[in-house]
Amino acid sequence: MREFFQDPDSDDLTELQRNLRTLHDLVSGFIDPEEPRIRRLGDESFGEILERESLPGPSSTPTAVLESLAPYFQGMVRWNHPGTMINVTPPPTYASVAAAAYTSLLNANGAQDMSSGLLLGAELAVVKMVSQLAGLDLEKSGGVFTFGGKSTNVHAVKHGIQRAVPNARREGIPTPIRVLSSTQGHPCHEEVCGWLGIGETSCLRVPTLPDGSMDLGALDEALRATVRSGKQVATIFANGGTTIQMVVDPIGEIVALRDAVVEDLGLDYVPCVHVDSVVGWVWLFFRDYNAEANPWGFPARVLDKIRRQAARITEIRLADSFGVDFHKTGFASYSASLFMAADRTEIYQQGGITHADHPIGGGGRKGLPYEDLRFGHHSPFQYTFELSRSLTGPVEAYVNLKLLGVEGYQQLIGGLIVASQRFGEELVSLQRFEVLSATDSQGFAVLFIAKPNSDTPSVFDQSWDRSSLEALATFNYKFYRYLFEQQSQGRCPIICDYSSGYHKLVGGARIGVHKSYPMSPFYDEKTAVGFARQLGGLLEEFDARAPDAPFADGPHEARPMIFRPGTLT
Ligand SMILES: *Cc1c(COP(=O)(O)O)cnc(C)c1O
Repeated sequence: MREFFQDPDSDDLTELQRNLRTLHDLVSGFIDPEEPRIRRLGDESFGEILERESLPGPSSTPTAVLESLAPYFQGMVRWNHPGTMINVTPPPTYASVAAAAYTSLLNANGAQDMSSGLLLGAELAVVKMVSQLAGLDLEKSGGVFTFGGKSTNVHAVKHGIQRAVPNARREGIPTPIRVLSSTQGHPCHEEVCGWLGIGETSCLRVPTLPDGSMDLGALDEALRATVRSGKQVATIFANGGTTIQMVVDPIGEIVALRDAVVEDLGLDYVPCVHVDSVVGWVWLFFRDYNAEANPWGFPARVLDKIRRQAARITEIRLADSFGVDFHKTGFASYSASLFMAADRTEIYQQGGITHADHPIGGGGRKGLPYEDLRFGHHSPFQYTFELSRSLTGPVEAYVNLKLLGVEGYQQLIGGLIVASQRFGEELVSLQRFEVLSATDSQGFAVLFIAKPNSDTPSVFDQSWDRSSLEALATFNYKFYRYLFEQQSQGRCPIICDYSSGYHKLVGGARIGVHKSYPMSPFYDEKTAVGFARQLGGLLEEFDARAPDAPFADGPHEARPMIFRPGTLT
């Protein structure tokens, strides 16, 4: 069996490289470089695939195993392909993946420095760099990597609970707890309440203003009403860039409002204000962007957007905590999420237990200034959610922050905004598409619909009634199915999402819309224009198609048609 492991007497990496090469050669057989999705032969269900699988008795060889693994890569989208525009899913840099793989080979144990040595310092270095980026007090701030953006939100609620109910950790929560988020906040804000045992219905959704930001008057009311009714508010979620529209809430005002309520109602605890910035943290790279000199030559409209978003996210330093997903806008692989706190003592103490020698979650001792944190004393497992925890996330984040730097992130993110803007403009110039995100999306996702005719009125027009809007929805669903079919036939290298319904239409009606969410650095203006024109060409072919002709299968099950009439009659 020893041949399966790296020989301790050798520093030879040949076997790792050979295995990598073997797997790549096997998977390459399915890859068409022109297509974002890796080809899928056959149409088996997972059940049929599993019929071929069972636990082997005898041992095997790496090559034989990789041969049986390789077909599982079929049907996958490649994030690096510019046509993959489904969600916030970036391709990772080579260097970050290499560092993560190498760390995995040697020792990726992030539980304590006794095991993985100074490599835990790379996690601290990332925390320092992100603190600098956010303008936090380096003497006080802290952070821990955890298993996903969702987990950063688990931390946010858990930290709020430990403020409101100091004994909660040992004794549970005797009183009703509430968490506040906006209607635009991520669904996981309530899911984490379920996981933490306070119940999903404990997450109250505050309404938003027309621009998607939290209605502060409504927040003020909700906060006061909740407290007056004898409940405790653990955490207020502010959006630091919603997933699609990239809405950043007025963080400073939310913090000020929280402070005023604490004072007015004489609360004996301070609810956490956590910014869910797992996607939008990346705007921080533009905090000090010199818009006058504009070194990357961003066009005026892009510059406006950048300036606005950077100004909003800069207030993140006023919050108690925030989340960062390097596997989203950080160009790292899965998963690399960081929970950041303005006061690291909150992380170390994990509520209540403060005496120095307590074996887990130990108190004061863990709040050491970094100068006094010596090798042998750094044991994150004592206060992290995870016990065995991987260092691959921190290592990837470290590599990317140093590799790309502030300027690299500015160019990558700025480049995506520029190309997206161009994509939207080109779609509009074809006269057969309407871009819905032009006015209310601050990010680089483009939401659009196809118009049956060039003189189809705007979808926001008040003249739409139920049947005409339903016809428009059907038209767009069919066009989605057509694109889907064309993808399978290798005639459409663009994978946009059919998104769950745009909600600002007359009467609160919803229809399914097309969403492009580019993340590949290879998506540039030229590609964007080419894609828009290709979509235009496909729409013309679609026009010529018999209206009731059935669609051939796409690469996977198609999403169902979305039309909700709201109050339309
Ligand atoms: C993606 C996302 C999450 C969940 O993060 P994961 O890394 O997928 O667990 C939470 N909030 C927002 C705004 C997100 O976009």
